[in-house]
Amino acid sequence: ESKLKVVVLGAGYAGMMTTKRLTQQLPAEEVDITLVNNHNYHYQTTWLHEVAAGTIDVNRSRIMISDVINTKRVQFVHDTVVKINKEEKTVQLENGELDYDYLVIGLGFEKATFGIPGMDEHAFSIQNVDKSRMIRDHIEYQFARYRNEENPDPSMLTIVVGGAGFTGIEFLGELAERIPELCKKYDIPRQDVKIIDIEAMPTILPGFDEQLLTYAKESLEARGIEFKLGSMIKEIKADAVIVGDEKEEIKTGTFVWTGGVQANHIVSDSGFELTKGKVTVDATLRASDHDEIFILGDCAWVMNSETGRPYPPTAQLAIQEADVCAHNLKTMIYGGTLQEFKYDDKGTVASLGGSDAMGTVFDGNKLYGMQAKVMKNVVDDRYLFLLGGPKLVLRKGKFRPF
Ligand code: FAD
Repeated sequence: ESKLKVVVLGAGYAGMMTTKRLTQQLPAEEVDITLVNNHNYHYQTTWLHEVAAGTIDVNRSRIMISDVINTKRVQFVHDTVVKINKEEKTVQLENGELDYDYLVIGLGFEKATFGIPGMDEHAFSIQNVDKSRMIRDHIEYQFARYRNEENPDPSMLTIVVGGAGFTGIEFLGELAERIPELCKKYDIPRQDVKIIDIEAMPTILPGFDEQLLTYAKESLEARGIEFKLGSMIKEIKADAVIVGDEKEEIKTGTFVWTGGVQANHIVSDSGFELTKGKVTVDATLRASDHDEIFILGDCAWVMNSETGRPYPPTAQLAIQEADVCAHNLKTMIYGGTLQEFKYDDKGTVASLGGSDAMGTVFDGNKLYGMQAKVMKNVVDDRYLFLLGGPKLVLRKGKFRPF
């Protein structure tokens, strides 16, 4: 008798934690587990703004999959997913094909450009390890170039960030740390470098508490970040950003877009119906027309039944979804009651670079500065602990008591 096949696509927060849970819950004699990922490492998406700014080394943000997943129990396939054939229950890979009885999709996000001209060609995005380190290297290259040209264009040293949501703000915080270091390294006065954030909404961090976002804005402004709020980006050119109805041109050597994300295109390519860029799953985290397919993390919207609106997609959400997905998958195979997902909000802390941060914890208490930073590190390390125990925390963790 052949074994049941569970296939997990993507080794991000959702995919890794689901795989981990499944290995603990499903008997190896009866169920095969396969994990597919396009790299042989798992990376901390929530640290990518640090990789992009160059404030942490790339290797700090990634973990070999075989270090944390039991590859005797799980078949790890290092390949790129091309398409999911829902009706045939197969997954097409660049170098092969897999069939499944149950499928978990955790392929994460990609940049949403909202059809803004030039965005595909000229915008960097903080999307994965490779794209993030390209931003780091590009910025440094601009500094090096500036020192080597006879009459350098000052806009070479202008960095424009599109969007002032969570990712944009955290990236600005890291730039505020990194740019003074680069200035020193390349003998360039700090005032020659401009960092400008452009946001369509009249405020940064829409949805955040007013006091917290004011704190963040003032902290960043004090370190030389300029904000242009209520300004729509109309077009991106190779060397400029065009803003507003007046078509103001801001010359720049680096443009990084953080203004929107959507589900990995594999999901829409495979015929799943999208609402605002993602698939709406039911409370048990399954695709509405395919009971055997779970969709997690940044590919999905899960509705909050209390507010009637979807939960904002975060790593915290993806990790919690993994528990419910693993439980429900086991239930579908062995019987029992399916669990409905309910988000346990442990608070949100945004890093502002260096030793600054701000956010809310547990009961809505506000934290600022070093206290918030410590909390942020605790959250990061808690995840590493769940994934790889104390050894992984010691190797890759953020917490430095002194
Ligand atoms: P991901 O973690 O992005 O993983 C997707 C995986 O799929 C990756 O391993 C990728 O390599 C793989 N993959 C992609 N395409 C293919 C393919 N075709 N074939 C095979 N494999 C593929 N959330 C928080 O809760 N707190 C924070 O502080 C926070 N900070 C953030 C900071 C930044 C800079 C960013 C960008 C996001 C931040 N988020 C934060 C959001 C959080 O990172 C995402 O919500 C989370 O990563 C979603 O997890 P996921 O498992 O869906 O996808």
